[in-house]
Amino acid sequence: MSDYMNVTEIFGCDVFNDSVMEERLPKKVYKELKKTIEEGKELSPEVADVVAHEMKEWAIEKGATHYSHWFQPLTGVTAEKHDAFITAPKENGKVLMSFSGKELVKGESDASSFPSGGLRATFEARGYTAWDCTSPAFVRHDAAGGTLCIPTAFCSYTGEALDQKTPLLRSMEAINVQALRLIRLFGNKTSKKVTPSVGAEQEYFLVDKEKWLQRKDLTYTGRTLFGAMPPKGQEMDDHYLGTIRQRISAYMKEVNEECWKLGVTAKTQHNEVAPAQHELAPIYAPANIAADHNQIMMRILKKVASRHGMRCLLHEKPFAGVNGSGKHNNWSLTTDDGINLLEPGKTPHENIQFLLVLTCILKAVDTHADLLRESAADVGNDHRLGGNEAPPAVISVFLGEQLGDVMDQLISTGTATHSKKGTILETGVKTLPDFMKDATDRNRTSPFAFTGNKFEFRMVGSRDSISECNVVLNTIAAEAFKEACDRLEAADDFDMAVHDLIKEYAIDHQRIVFNGNGYAPEWAEEAERRGLPNLPSMVDAIPALTTPKAVKLFETFHVFTETELQSRAEIQYEIYAKAINIEAKTMIDIATKQIIPAVIKYTTVLAESINAVKAAGPIDVSVQMELLEKCSELLKKTSSAMNELAKAVAEIPQVPEGRERAVYCKDTVTKIMEELRKPVDELEMLVDKEMWPMPSYGDLIFEV
Ligand code: ADP
Ligand code: MG
Repeated sequence: MSDYMNVTEIFGCDVFNDSVMEERLPKKVYKELKKTIEEGKELSPEVADVVAHEMKEWAIEKGATHYSHWFQPLTGVTAEKHDAFITAPKENGKVLMSFSGKELVKGESDASSFPSGGLRATFEARGYTAWDCTSPAFVRHDAAGGTLCIPTAFCSYTGEALDQKTPLLRSMEAINVQALRLIRLFGNKTSKKVTPSVGAEQEYFLVDKEKWLQRKDLTYTGRTLFGAMPPKGQEMDDHYLGTIRQRISAYMKEVNEECWKLGVTAKTQHNEVAPAQHELAPIYAPANIAADHNQIMMRILKKVASRHGMRCLLHEKPFAGVNGSGKHNNWSLTTDDGINLLEPGKTPHENIQFLLVLTCILKAVDTHADLLRESAADVGNDHRLGGNEAPPAVISVFLGEQLGDVMDQLISTGTATHSKKGTILETGVKTLPDFMKDATDRNRTSPFAFTGNKFEFRMVGSRDSISECNVVLNTIAAEAFKEACDRLEAADDFDMAVHDLIKEYAIDHQRIVFNGNGYAPEWAEEAERRGLPNLPSMVDAIPALTTPKAVKLFETFHVFTETELQSRAEIQYEIYAKAINIEAKTMIDIATKQIIPAVIKYTTVLAESINAVKAAGPIDVSVQMELLEKCSELLKKTSSAMNELAKAVAEIPQVPEGRERAVYCKDTVTKIMEELRKPVDELEMLVDKEMWPMPSYGDLIFEV
């Protein structure tokens, strides 16, 4: 790779994007395809054949030998099945490279290895992938060569969604219909489509690969299961936005380049709060494309890391006591002609459409706070949410000073008459321009914050798909818009009706607004007084998926059927129990084979040296004795916690039902895991570093 990089030249060079299609497809075919992409018109088999042929020719020029239907099953990662373009050899022994419209549009995949939560009876193991032509195909290059990746949705034989994308596309249709209704009421006759725009900021850690290999907990589970805090933690905050070190800089350069080639608009990169932690954000895109791009980005982050002798950790909490990683999901609603429905303008109090949209969203979030919380539920995120770094597990909305004030006016007098203005920020340096401060400062502690012209949902875990939270955001907003439109369309006096509605929503749902410090312990109490749900763990959050309220919501907008929701809940329980099972077994393995032997070795050496010193004369060995006693005591605690954990783990498969098993893992197994960790972390502080069997937190975090 050369040092010089022309971004405009490489950007999207491996993507079958609009300009490639326009250039390569016959005019008529291009127009037909655009109608499908933009208006959802059905694609004819003839058009599909032509598109497939051109796509294949283009992909082969880019070095592709295979194609793959690329999809996002409910395991959290992407999946694909590769097929070569070649057809059976002809009589002359030569092969043809072919790819038909049928192969482009529909794939069949043995779905039995993907979770279905009981949706698929075992005799029906087939799953189907269907082309999502609104997200462009791309050629990916890796050790396997070039592969044409076709973004697809993944469904069962009977049409139930088995993936993240299908409900996301359904929810985008729902919000489109209802948001159009709403803007029509305000006289907009020109916009044809409303799309949720999403920008996901991705956090991750980088560690040295050699050290990573010596940590079985990291390699098996993605996080450290043991580990004492280094004397220097993140309290110095000198890492944040620090000069990005050379090794990391070289890595980021390559990540950017790979992202750009695949049309992913990697834009902002910086160091995060924790040492070795970094962030990468793209420019926002339509929700389904943003979700695909986030998956591509995560894969690139991992792939490039191994090329640089590092490992990229996407786990939400790789190190206890050190900031975890999340994904900020920035969300707004944009029309095809560029209007952002969440843009308040300079005088929000006069912007009635904005106030309606805003109060509808408050209502939606208040009504379905449990679902929004559930959308960020993930095994790893349990260690993060509610910690002193991530938003608490209670959902609330931050509006900031300006909008908060407008809300207060609405609630107290029924009308808002003025908007607070931003003030001039004087830099005090003549050569620097003074600039207008935002009317509102940032609040980093809120899980759902209004940030100027978008909402930022900050609960999502760093490994998780962003699809789930956007499915929820789109659908709950669609419901609130629908209920508002039903009333406003039937009103005699629109102005009066909309005024009343905004006031009503503001009053009824003011409890969800919280502009204070979400990390403060008082907030948990205050939230409880307000009746806001507090769902600290994934297992507590899962039932939100199948409440009558959720079923009604998702069925009304054809996003999920009740059966699909039940299967998703089932899968979540399964994922939780499996993850805890693996973590517990890994702990036992490490304790048995590495830690206990190391401590035995150390105590033996200690004992021998005590004897040797004693033999040399009447010397005080009380320090050595104390250390020996302490280590032996902790060793005993370790051993007994480990035995207990082994017993508890053996019980897991005996618990018959999915939810029960997950509850057992959370209430019993994870508690004993903590019991085992404690003495081991204490031992790490006592045992000779040379004898400790794995790299420490300090080695991992400060020496990348
Ligand atoms: P912040 O500094 O507040 O986190 P940035 O400007 O860095 O905000 O943007 C963060 C993410 O939000 C980026 O991915 C950006 O593209 C995205 N974003 C910006 N505007 C919007 C919008 N109107 N809708 C959705 N996402 C947006
Ligand atoms: Mg952010």
